[in-house]
Amino acid sequence: MASKAYIGLGSNLGRRQETLRRALDLLGKRGRVHLRALSQMIETAPTGGPTGQGDFINAVAEIETDLEPGALLAELQQVENLCGRDRSSELRWGPRTCDLDILLMGDLVMRSPELTVPHPRMHQRLFVLRPLAQLAPQVVHPVLGRTVAQLLAEAGGGRK
Ligand code: ATP
Ligand code: MG
Ligand code: MG
Repeated sequence: MASKAYIGLGSNLGRRQETLRRALDLLGKRGRVHLRALSQMIETAPTGGPTGQGDFINAVAEIETDLEPGALLAELQQVENLCGRDRSSELRWGPRTCDLDILLMGDLVMRSPELTVPHPRMHQRLFVLRPLAQLAPQVVHPVLGRTVAQLLAEAGGGRK
């Protein structure tokens, strides 16, 4: 059965919006992931990584897929690579052309070294919660038991 999932997209290197559009286009064309909705693209200051890197464009996509979680992660990583991501030369939370993270996948809860769902930092990140709340304000986080709208308010998202 197909799962509904939410993917977080980010780019702060090169032609940021174009790269994210290309990633979505590739995901659709490869045929395993079906795009159902896309948030606005927002510009956000980098958090947590090396200082001096450029602002990000972030967005969230709602998708449907028959892929298992591990296969979805592999598909996303292949598309990141096709969009010019080079992990071998990267710093943690440093500049990247394309980051595609699994935020939520239905009610799935899993923790393995390669994949944790829901994404372990999604509830702390306004650059995730703001666009996610445009698509799915009433979706309940399966670990925290609160809606995306509540998580956004708790993270300070009501304020600018
Ligand atoms: P963050 O996870 O804090 O957003 P990041 O996206 O920059 O950081 P990456 O370098 O893209 O981190 O990925 C590092 C590893 O995170 C990946 O190799 C992948 O195995 C793992 N990972 C664990 N959970 C997830 C998830 N829900 N979505 C995407 N990658 C995940
Ligand atoms: Mg990320
Ligand atoms: Mg990532």
